[in-house]
Amino acid sequence: MPNVEIVAIGTELLLGQLVDTNTAFIAQHLADAGIDVYATHAIGDNRERIAAAIGVALARADGIVTTGGLGPTVDDVTKEAVCDVLGVECERHAPTIERMEAFFVSIGREMRENNRRQADVPRGSLVLGNARGTAPGFIATRSDGKFVASLPGVPNEMKTMLVDELLPRLREQFKTTQGIVTRVLHVTGLAESEIDHRIDDLFRWSENPKIAVLAHVGTCDVKIMVKAADDESAHVAIAPLEIEIRGRLRGHVYGTDGQTLPERVLSLLRERTWRLAVAESCTGGRVAAAFTEIPGASDVFAGGIVAYENQAKIAFLGVDAAAIDVYGAVSKHVAEAMALGAARRFATDVALATTGVAGPGGGSQEKPVGLVWIAASFPGGVRTISVNVPGMRSEVQHRATQASLSLLWGILADKEE
Ligand code: ATP
Ligand code: MG
Repeated sequence: MPNVEIVAIGTELLLGQLVDTNTAFIAQHLADAGIDVYATHAIGDNRERIAAAIGVALARADGIVTTGGLGPTVDDVTKEAVCDVLGVECERHAPTIERMEAFFVSIGREMRENNRRQADVPRGSLVLGNARGTAPGFIATRSDGKFVASLPGVPNEMKTMLVDELLPRLREQFKTTQGIVTRVLHVTGLAESEIDHRIDDLFRWSENPKIAVLAHVGTCDVKIMVKAADDESAHVAIAPLEIEIRGRLRGHVYGTDGQTLPERVLSLLRERTWRLAVAESCTGGRVAAAFTEIPGASDVFAGGIVAYENQAKIAFLGVDAAAIDVYGAVSKHVAEAMALGAARRFATDVALATTGVAGPGGGSQEKPVGLVWIAASFPGGVRTISVNVPGMRSEVQHRATQASLSLLWGILADKEE
C-alpha cells in the first residue's frame, strides 16, 4: 500500500490554541481509501521549518498531504515552502484568477493583490478547485513521482477539497484496490476492561479483520476493521466476527457506526409512541441537552425541569418535603419522586430523573462525591439505579448523564436487569 504523511500547518496548533481536527479527518479518509499513514506532524507558520518537515517526510513517504497556510496573509507560506522543497517557482494560475475575479464581482468587493497571490501555485502542479472558498489547493509532483498535496486549513474547505478533488486522484494514481472498512459497535454499561476480557481471544488471532476497543465517557466502541478490495468482501469478513462479538456483549450493544445513545433512545421511544420528560438536579440540564441536540426530537421529547434546590423539587415536581428530610435529596426515594413528578407535570409516558453529589464539596461518608441516583418511570413501573462515578465535577455530570441514557435504553431495548 502507498504511504503518506500528513503535515498540519499553523502556529495556533503548536500553542495549543487550536485542536488539530483536520489531521484526524484526513487520516481517516486516507485509511478508507487504502492509503497508509505512517506519521503526522504539526508545524508553525515558518517557511524554513515547513520546508524542512516536508523534505524529511518526503524522503520516507510516497507523498505528503498538508493542510493550512494557503490564505492571502503574510503568515500563509505553505506554497512557498513546497516550492523550496521541490526546487520550483510559484506561478499564477490564470483560470483561478478568472474565477476569483467573478467571485469578487458577485460579492461586490474589490480584489486585492494579496487575494491574487492565492492563485499562485508551484509551477507544473495540478490545481485543486476550492468549492467553498477562494484559495485553491494543488498537487505538486516531483520527478521521482512523489507528491506534495496542499489543502486549505479552514475545515469545510479542506474536507470538500479532500473528498471531491484529492482522493479520487490518489485512488487513480495508486490504483488502490484495498480500502479499510470499519464497523463500529457502540457499547454501554460495560467497562473497557470487561469488554476486553470478554473478547480478547478474538483480538489475538485476528489481524485482518482487526479489533480495537476505544473507551469514551460512559460508553465504549468496539471497532472491527478490515482491509478488503470492495464492500462485499469486507462484509463477508466482518459479519461472522460481528455476530460473535454481539453475542458476547449481549444486552450492551446499543448502536452501530456513529449512532449515539440519545439517538437510539429517541428512536426506540418513537417506535413505541412514548413521550419523554426529564427532571434533573446534579446534571443541570445535560440530559435534556442530549436529547434536544437531535433534530426532530420534539415529537418524543416534551421538556425538562432543572430542580436544583430542594424547594424546586418540592414546588415543581411535587416531591414530598418529608421524604427529602428523611432520605435526603440524593436518594432512591427522591429520584423516583422526581421522575414521577416530571411524568405527571409533562403528561408523558416516560420520565428520567437524576439527583447526586457532583462535588467537589458536599460529599459525606454515606453519600460521597460521585454518588448519583437515577430513576426512570415508564408504563411498566419505575426503575432506579445508583452509580458511583469517578472524576471532577464536570465528569461526574457527564457520566451521570450517560448513565441515565443507558438506564432508559436498557428499559426500551427490553434488556433484562
Ligand atoms: P485562510 O484563507 O483562512 O487563511 P488557510 O488555508 O491559510 O486559510 P489557515 O490560515 O492555516 O488556513 O487556517 C484558517 C483557519 O482554519 C484557522 O484559524 C482554524 O480555525 C482552521 N484550521 C486550520 N488548520 C486547522 C487544523 N489543522 N485543524 C482544525 N482547524 C484548522
Ligand atoms: Mg491563513
